[in-house]
Amino acid sequence: MHYIKNAKLVLETGILWDGVLAMDGGRIAAYGAASEIEIPTDAEVMDAKGLYVGPGFVDIHVHGGGDSLFIEDAQKTAGHFLNHGTTTMLPTFYTDLSKERFLEGIEHVKHVKETTEIGKAIGGIYTEGPYMNPKYGANADQNKWRGDILPEMYEEVVDAAGTLAKVWAVAPEREGLQPFLSYAKKANPDVVFAVGHSEANPDQIQKLKRYGFCLQTHCMNATGRIETWAGTRACGPDEYCMTDSDMYAELICDSLGIHVNPAMIRMILKIKSVDKIVLITDSFVSHGQAPEGLRHVTDIHFDNGGGLCGSKLTMDVACRNMMTHTNCGIAQVFLMAARNPARVIGMEDEIGTIEVGKKANLIFVDDMFHVDTVILEGQIWNKQSVL
Ligand SMILES: [Zn+2]
Repeated sequence: MHYIKNAKLVLETGILWDGVLAMDGGRIAAYGAASEIEIPTDAEVMDAKGLYVGPGFVDIHVHGGGDSLFIEDAQKTAGHFLNHGTTTMLPTFYTDLSKERFLEGIEHVKHVKETTEIGKAIGGIYTEGPYMNPKYGANADQNKWRGDILPEMYEEVVDAAGTLAKVWAVAPEREGLQPFLSYAKKANPDVVFAVGHSEANPDQIQKLKRYGFCLQTHCMNATGRIETWAGTRACGPDEYCMTDSDMYAELICDSLGIHVNPAMIRMILKIKSVDKIVLITDSFVSHGQAPEGLRHVTDIHFDNGGGLCGSKLTMDVACRNMMTHTNCGIAQVFLMAARNPARVIGMEDEIGTIEVGKKANLIFVDDMFHVDTVILEGQIWNKQSVL
Protein backbone atom coordinates (compact mmCIF):
# COMPACT_ATOMS: atom_id res chain seq x y z
CA MET A 1 0.00 0.00 0.00
CA HIS A 2 1.30 3.48 -0.88
CA TYR A 3 -0.03 6.62 0.75
CA ILE A 4 -0.35 10.26 -0.20
CA LYS A 5 -0.64 12.69 2.70
CA ASN A 6 -1.08 16.45 3.13
CA ALA A 7 -3.37 16.53 0.11
CA LYS A 8 -6.30 18.72 -0.72
CA LEU A 9 -8.26 15.90 -2.32
CA VAL A 10 -10.43 17.06 -5.20
CA LEU A 11 -13.50 14.87 -4.98
CA GLU A 12 -16.56 14.92 -7.20
CA THR A 13 -18.53 16.74 -4.51
CA GLY A 14 -15.88 19.22 -3.40
CA ILE A 15 -12.51 19.48 -1.72
CA LEU A 16 -11.41 17.46 1.27
CA TRP A 17 -8.83 19.47 3.19
CA ASP A 18 -5.94 17.62 4.79
CA GLY A 19 -6.76 14.41 2.96
CA VAL A 20 -4.99 11.09 2.79
CA LEU A 21 -5.23 8.64 -0.09
CA ALA A 22 -4.07 5.04 -0.24
CA MET A 23 -3.16 3.21 -3.44
CA ASP A 24 -2.77 -0.49 -3.97
CA GLY A 25 -2.07 -2.42 -7.15
CA GLY A 26 -2.48 0.68 -9.30
CA ARG A 27 -5.91 1.47 -7.88
CA ILE A 28 -7.31 3.80 -5.25
CA ALA A 29 -7.72 1.68 -2.12
CA ALA A 30 -9.03 4.27 0.34
CA TYR A 31 -9.21 8.00 0.96
CA GLY A 32 -10.41 10.25 3.72
CA ALA A 33 -9.47 12.94 6.20
CA ALA A 34 -6.10 12.60 7.91
CA SER A 35 -7.92 12.12 11.19
CA GLU A 36 -9.74 9.07 9.78
CA ILE A 37 -7.00 7.19 7.97
CA GLU A 38 -4.09 5.85 9.89
CA ILE A 39 -0.86 5.50 7.94
CA PRO A 40 1.25 2.54 9.12
CA THR A 41 4.68 3.69 10.30
CA ASP A 42 6.53 1.53 7.78
CA ALA A 43 4.36 2.54 4.82
CA GLU A 44 5.69 4.32 1.75
CA VAL A 45 4.32 7.87 1.93
CA MET A 46 4.35 10.74 -0.54
CA ASP A 47 3.91 14.22 0.84
CA ALA A 48 1.63 16.32 -1.39
CA LYS A 49 2.74 19.41 0.58
CA GLY A 50 -0.72 20.89 0.66
CA LEU A 51 -1.21 20.74 -3.12
CA TYR A 52 -4.51 19.74 -4.70
CA VAL A 53 -4.62 16.07 -5.60
CA GLY A 54 -7.21 15.40 -8.27
CA PRO A 55 -8.01 12.84 -10.95
CA GLY A 56 -5.66 12.84 -13.95
CA PHE A 57 -7.02 14.76 -16.91
CA VAL A 58 -8.93 12.95 -19.63
CA ASP A 59 -8.42 14.56 -23.04
CA ILE A 60 -10.70 12.95 -25.58
CA HIS A 61 -9.72 15.15 -28.53
CA VAL A 62 -6.01 15.66 -29.19
CA HIS A 63 -4.01 15.25 -32.40
CA GLY A 64 -0.49 15.93 -31.30
CA GLY A 65 1.80 18.24 -29.42
CA GLY A 66 5.38 18.85 -28.38
CA ASP A 67 6.43 18.53 -32.03
CA SER A 68 4.92 15.13 -32.78
CA LEU A 69 1.61 13.71 -33.92
CA PHE A 70 -0.01 10.64 -32.41
CA ILE A 71 -0.41 8.95 -35.77
CA GLU A 72 3.35 9.20 -36.33
CA ASP A 73 4.79 8.79 -32.85
CA ALA A 74 2.17 7.96 -30.25
CA GLN A 75 4.72 7.18 -27.57
CA LYS A 76 6.53 10.49 -27.71
CA THR A 77 3.30 12.45 -28.07
CA ALA A 78 1.67 10.70 -25.12
CA GLY A 79 4.74 11.57 -23.04
CA HIS A 80 4.28 15.25 -23.81
CA PHE A 81 0.70 15.23 -22.58
CA LEU A 82 1.43 13.03 -19.56
CA ASN A 83 3.95 15.63 -18.47
CA HIS A 84 1.05 18.07 -18.36
CA GLY A 85 -1.23 15.83 -16.33
CA THR A 86 -3.28 13.99 -18.95
CA THR A 87 -3.44 10.37 -17.82
CA THR A 88 -6.03 9.26 -20.38
CA MET A 89 -6.02 10.55 -23.93
CA LEU A 90 -7.73 9.68 -27.18
CA PRO A 91 -5.32 10.19 -30.09
CA THR A 92 -7.42 11.95 -32.68
CA PHE A 93 -7.41 11.23 -36.39
CA TYR A 94 -8.57 13.81 -38.88
CA THR A 95 -10.49 13.99 -41.97
CA ASP A 96 -8.06 14.59 -44.81
CA LEU A 97 -6.12 11.38 -44.19
CA SER A 98 -6.22 8.76 -46.90
CA LYS A 99 -7.60 5.33 -46.10
CA GLU A 100 -4.06 3.96 -45.99
CA ARG A 101 -2.92 6.63 -43.53
CA PHE A 102 -5.93 5.87 -41.33
CA LEU A 103 -5.02 2.18 -41.31
CA GLU A 104 -1.34 2.80 -40.60
CA GLY A 105 -2.17 5.25 -37.82
CA ILE A 106 -4.65 2.91 -36.17
CA GLU A 107 -2.12 0.06 -36.21
CA HIS A 108 0.56 2.30 -34.76
CA VAL A 109 -1.60 3.63 -31.91
CA LYS A 110 -2.89 0.13 -31.16
CA HIS A 111 0.66 -1.19 -30.99
CA VAL A 112 1.79 1.55 -28.56
CA LYS A 113 -1.32 1.10 -26.42
CA GLU A 114 -0.83 -2.63 -26.12
CA THR A 115 2.92 -2.98 -25.86
CA THR A 116 4.29 -0.02 -23.89
CA GLU A 117 4.06 1.28 -20.35
CA ILE A 118 2.93 4.68 -21.60
CA GLY A 119 0.18 2.91 -23.53
CA LYS A 120 -1.77 2.86 -20.25
CA ALA A 121 -2.51 6.52 -20.92
CA ILE A 122 -4.10 5.82 -24.30
CA GLY A 123 -7.80 5.23 -23.84
CA GLY A 124 -8.71 4.59 -27.47
CA ILE A 125 -9.04 6.78 -30.54
CA TYR A 126 -11.29 9.62 -31.58
CA THR A 127 -11.82 10.17 -35.25
CA GLU A 128 -12.72 13.54 -36.67
CA GLY A 129 -14.30 12.21 -39.78
CA PRO A 130 -13.95 10.77 -42.19
CA TYR A 131 -17.41 12.07 -43.03
CA MET A 132 -17.44 15.77 -42.30
CA ASN A 133 -18.63 18.77 -44.20
CA PRO A 134 -15.59 19.86 -46.22
CA LYS A 135 -16.81 23.46 -45.93
CA TYR A 136 -15.78 23.61 -42.31
CA GLY A 137 -12.07 23.30 -41.81
CA ALA A 138 -11.87 19.79 -43.17
CA ASN A 139 -9.20 20.55 -45.74
CA ALA A 140 -11.68 20.69 -48.60
CA ASP A 141 -9.22 20.41 -51.49
CA GLN A 142 -7.40 17.35 -50.26
CA ASN A 143 -10.27 15.63 -48.53
CA LYS A 144 -10.42 12.05 -49.78
CA TRP A 145 -13.83 11.40 -48.28
CA ARG A 146 -16.00 13.71 -50.35
CA GLY A 147 -18.86 12.42 -52.43
CA ASP A 148 -20.71 9.19 -51.82
CA ILE A 149 -20.30 7.30 -48.57
CA LEU A 150 -19.10 3.91 -49.73
CA PRO A 151 -18.70 0.71 -47.69
CA GLU A 152 -15.53 -0.15 -49.59
CA MET A 153 -14.01 3.06 -48.25
CA TYR A 154 -15.07 2.90 -44.60
CA GLU A 155 -15.44 -0.77 -43.71
CA GLU A 156 -11.73 -1.49 -43.57
CA VAL A 157 -11.08 1.56 -41.40
CA VAL A 158 -13.92 0.75 -39.00
CA ASP A 159 -12.83 -2.91 -38.79
CA ALA A 160 -9.24 -1.91 -38.06
CA ALA A 161 -10.33 0.50 -35.33
CA GLY A 162 -12.75 -1.99 -33.74
CA THR A 163 -13.41 -1.25 -30.07
CA LEU A 164 -10.43 1.10 -29.99
CA ALA A 165 -12.72 3.67 -31.65
CA LYS A 166 -14.47 5.58 -28.88
CA VAL A 167 -15.77 8.54 -30.86
CA TRP A 168 -16.55 9.17 -34.52
CA ALA A 169 -17.26 12.81 -35.28
CA VAL A 170 -19.37 13.30 -38.39
CA ALA A 171 -21.48 15.92 -40.13
CA PRO A 172 -25.11 14.70 -39.93
CA GLU A 173 -25.99 16.53 -43.15
CA ARG A 174 -23.79 14.21 -45.20
CA GLU A 175 -26.11 12.13 -47.33
CA GLY A 176 -26.17 8.36 -46.89
CA LEU A 177 -24.54 8.42 -43.48
CA GLN A 178 -26.78 5.82 -41.81
CA PRO A 179 -25.05 2.67 -43.11
CA PHE A 180 -21.73 4.03 -41.86
CA LEU A 181 -23.20 4.77 -38.41
CA SER A 182 -24.74 1.29 -38.19
CA TYR A 183 -21.51 -0.33 -39.24
CA ALA A 184 -19.43 1.64 -36.72
CA LYS A 185 -21.90 0.80 -33.97
CA LYS A 186 -21.73 -2.87 -34.83
CA ALA A 187 -17.95 -2.80 -34.60
CA ASN A 188 -18.17 -1.16 -31.17
CA PRO A 189 -21.60 -1.07 -29.51
CA ASP A 190 -20.33 1.50 -26.98
CA VAL A 191 -19.17 3.94 -29.62
CA VAL A 192 -20.27 7.57 -29.39
CA PHE A 193 -21.00 9.86 -32.31
CA ALA A 194 -20.22 13.55 -32.24
CA VAL A 195 -21.57 16.34 -34.42
CA GLY A 196 -18.55 18.07 -35.90
CA HIS A 197 -17.39 20.21 -38.81
CA SER A 198 -21.01 20.58 -39.71
CA GLU A 199 -23.85 22.92 -40.54
CA ALA A 200 -26.60 20.42 -39.76
CA ASN A 201 -29.90 21.82 -38.66
CA PRO A 202 -31.65 20.47 -35.54
CA ASP A 203 -33.91 18.15 -37.58
CA GLN A 204 -30.96 16.52 -39.30
CA ILE A 205 -29.25 15.86 -35.98
CA GLN A 206 -32.43 14.72 -34.24
CA LYS A 207 -33.08 12.17 -36.96
CA LEU A 208 -29.76 10.43 -36.32
CA LYS A 209 -29.66 10.85 -32.56
CA ARG A 210 -30.76 7.29 -31.86
CA TYR A 211 -27.44 5.99 -33.23
CA GLY A 212 -25.75 7.55 -30.20
CA PHE A 213 -25.08 11.24 -30.81
CA CYS A 214 -24.31 12.83 -27.45
CA LEU A 215 -21.37 15.11 -28.11
CA GLN A 216 -20.59 18.22 -30.08
CA THR A 217 -17.09 18.43 -31.49
CA HIS A 218 -15.46 21.73 -30.44
CA CYS A 219 -18.62 23.72 -29.81
CA MET A 220 -18.57 27.07 -31.66
CA ASN A 221 -15.68 25.99 -33.91
CA ALA A 222 -15.97 24.71 -37.48
CA THR A 223 -19.74 24.97 -37.44
CA GLY A 224 -22.17 26.92 -39.58
CA ARG A 225 -25.82 27.70 -40.08
CA ILE A 226 -27.82 27.87 -43.24
CA GLU A 227 -29.91 31.00 -43.24
CA THR A 228 -33.25 30.34 -44.89
CA TRP A 229 -34.78 33.76 -44.32
CA ALA A 230 -32.65 36.86 -44.76
CA GLY A 231 -32.11 38.78 -41.58
CA THR A 232 -32.84 35.87 -39.27
CA ARG A 233 -30.51 33.72 -37.27
CA ALA A 234 -30.66 30.09 -38.33
CA CYS A 235 -29.98 27.10 -36.09
CA GLY A 236 -26.96 24.87 -36.55
CA PRO A 237 -25.07 22.35 -34.41
CA ASP A 238 -24.16 24.92 -31.74
CA GLU A 239 -27.77 25.87 -31.14
CA TYR A 240 -28.82 22.23 -31.18
CA CYS A 241 -26.20 21.40 -28.56
CA MET A 242 -27.43 24.25 -26.37
CA THR A 243 -31.00 22.98 -26.44
CA ASP A 244 -30.52 19.23 -26.10
CA SER A 245 -29.58 18.46 -22.52
CA ASP A 246 -28.21 15.02 -23.49
CA MET A 247 -25.44 16.64 -25.50
CA TYR A 248 -21.99 17.30 -24.09
CA ALA A 249 -20.17 20.33 -25.50
CA GLU A 250 -16.45 20.06 -26.23
CA LEU A 251 -14.73 23.33 -25.50
CA ILE A 252 -11.36 24.62 -26.67
CA CYS A 253 -10.52 27.12 -23.99
CA ASP A 254 -7.46 29.11 -25.01
CA SER A 255 -5.88 32.00 -23.15
CA LEU A 256 -6.94 34.73 -25.57
CA GLY A 257 -10.43 33.38 -26.09
CA ILE A 258 -9.83 33.10 -29.84
CA HIS A 259 -11.32 29.63 -30.38
CA VAL A 260 -14.28 30.53 -28.21
CA ASN A 261 -14.83 34.07 -27.04
CA PRO A 262 -14.87 34.30 -23.22
CA ALA A 263 -18.39 35.75 -23.28
CA MET A 264 -19.45 32.74 -25.33
CA ILE A 265 -17.68 30.40 -22.89
CA ARG A 266 -19.69 31.94 -20.08
CA MET A 267 -22.87 31.57 -22.13
CA ILE A 268 -22.16 27.87 -22.79
CA LEU A 269 -21.42 27.36 -19.11
CA LYS A 270 -24.68 29.00 -18.16
CA ILE A 271 -26.70 26.87 -20.55
CA LYS A 272 -24.91 23.52 -20.39
CA SER A 273 -23.67 23.76 -16.74
CA VAL A 274 -20.44 22.20 -15.50
CA ASP A 275 -21.98 18.76 -15.96
CA LYS A 276 -22.13 18.92 -19.76
CA ILE A 277 -18.91 20.68 -20.74
CA VAL A 278 -15.88 18.66 -21.80
CA LEU A 279 -12.61 20.56 -21.94
CA ILE A 280 -10.39 19.39 -24.78
CA THR A 281 -7.06 20.55 -26.17
CA ASP A 282 -7.61 19.67 -29.86
CA SER A 283 -3.89 20.29 -29.90
CA PHE A 284 -1.99 20.06 -33.16
CA VAL A 285 1.56 20.57 -34.44
CA SER A 286 2.30 23.61 -36.56
CA HIS A 287 5.34 25.76 -37.14
CA GLY A 288 3.93 29.14 -38.13
CA GLN A 289 5.11 32.25 -36.34
CA ALA A 290 2.80 34.19 -34.06
CA PRO A 291 2.06 37.72 -35.26
CA GLU A 292 3.76 40.73 -33.72
CA GLY A 293 2.36 41.44 -30.31
CA LEU A 294 1.27 37.82 -29.74
CA ARG A 295 4.69 36.16 -29.54
CA HIS A 296 4.17 35.51 -25.84
CA VAL A 297 1.12 33.34 -26.51
CA THR A 298 2.02 29.68 -25.98
CA ASP A 299 -1.30 27.85 -26.33
CA ILE A 300 -2.41 28.86 -29.85
CA HIS A 301 -0.90 28.12 -33.27
CA PHE A 302 -0.85 30.86 -35.89
CA ASP A 303 -0.07 30.55 -39.56
CA ASN A 304 2.52 32.80 -41.14
CA GLY A 305 -0.21 35.18 -42.21
CA GLY A 306 -1.21 35.69 -38.57
CA GLY A 307 -4.35 33.59 -38.87
CA LEU A 308 -5.56 30.99 -36.39
CA CYS A 309 -3.99 27.60 -37.05
CA GLY A 310 -5.28 25.40 -34.26
CA SER A 311 -4.55 24.87 -30.63
CA LYS A 312 -1.31 24.19 -28.83
CA LEU A 313 -3.03 23.60 -25.51
CA THR A 314 -2.31 21.09 -22.84
CA MET A 315 -5.07 20.26 -20.36
CA ASP A 316 -3.42 22.06 -17.42
CA VAL A 317 -3.43 25.25 -19.45
CA ALA A 318 -7.01 24.69 -20.68
CA CYS A 319 -8.08 24.36 -17.03
CA ARG A 320 -6.24 27.53 -16.04
CA ASN A 321 -7.87 29.39 -18.94
CA MET A 322 -11.31 28.13 -17.87
CA MET A 323 -10.70 29.60 -14.41
CA THR A 324 -9.54 32.86 -16.00
CA HIS A 325 -12.54 33.22 -18.29
CA THR A 326 -15.25 32.08 -15.86
CA ASN A 327 -15.94 32.09 -12.15
CA CYS A 328 -15.49 28.32 -11.90
CA GLY A 329 -13.53 26.94 -9.00
CA ILE A 330 -10.90 24.23 -9.16
CA ALA A 331 -13.26 21.36 -8.24
CA GLN A 332 -15.68 22.33 -11.02
CA VAL A 333 -12.91 22.57 -13.58
CA PHE A 334 -11.75 19.07 -12.64
CA LEU A 335 -15.27 17.83 -13.47
CA MET A 336 -15.00 19.30 -16.97
CA ALA A 337 -11.45 18.04 -17.48
CA ALA A 338 -11.73 14.52 -16.06
CA ARG A 339 -15.15 13.29 -14.93
CA ASN A 340 -17.26 14.47 -17.86
CA PRO A 341 -14.93 13.26 -20.61
CA ALA A 342 -14.65 9.90 -18.83
CA ARG A 343 -18.44 9.70 -18.86
CA VAL A 344 -18.67 10.53 -22.56
CA ILE A 345 -16.42 7.64 -23.53
CA GLY A 346 -18.01 5.22 -21.05
CA MET A 347 -14.93 4.91 -18.85
CA GLU A 348 -16.40 6.49 -15.71
CA ASP A 349 -16.13 3.25 -13.74
CA GLU A 350 -12.36 3.27 -14.23
CA ILE A 351 -11.20 6.89 -14.34
CA GLY A 352 -12.32 10.51 -14.02
CA THR A 353 -12.88 10.94 -10.28
CA ILE A 354 -11.28 9.91 -7.02
CA GLU A 355 -13.23 6.82 -5.98
CA VAL A 356 -12.21 3.62 -4.26
CA GLY A 357 -11.56 0.96 -6.90
CA LYS A 358 -10.82 3.35 -9.75
CA LYS A 359 -7.39 3.54 -11.35
CA ALA A 360 -4.91 5.56 -9.29
CA ASN A 361 -4.47 8.14 -12.05
CA LEU A 362 -3.78 11.26 -10.03
CA ILE A 363 -2.16 14.66 -10.39
CA PHE A 364 -0.82 17.14 -7.86
CA VAL A 365 -1.52 20.73 -8.92
CA ASP A 366 -1.40 24.17 -7.34
CA ASP A 367 -4.37 26.53 -7.30
CA MET A 368 -3.81 27.53 -10.96
CA PHE A 369 -3.25 24.03 -12.31
CA HIS A 370 0.53 24.03 -12.46
CA VAL A 371 1.26 20.31 -12.48
CA ASP A 372 3.73 19.12 -9.86
CA THR A 373 3.35 15.33 -9.93
CA VAL A 374 1.63 12.83 -12.21
CA ILE A 375 0.69 9.33 -11.10
CA LEU A 376 -0.33 6.78 -13.73
CA GLU A 377 -1.95 3.64 -12.32
CA GLY A 378 -0.18 4.07 -9.01
CA GLN A 379 3.25 4.81 -10.49
CA ILE A 380 4.86 8.24 -10.41
CA TRP A 381 5.39 9.38 -13.96
CA ASN A 382 8.91 10.62 -14.35
CA LYS A 383 8.70 13.73 -16.48
CA GLN A 384 12.29 13.33 -17.56
CA SER A 385 11.69 9.81 -18.84
CA VAL A 386 13.55 9.21 -22.04
CA LEU A 387 11.12 7.68 -24.45
ZN1 LIG B 1 -9.53 18.24 -33.79
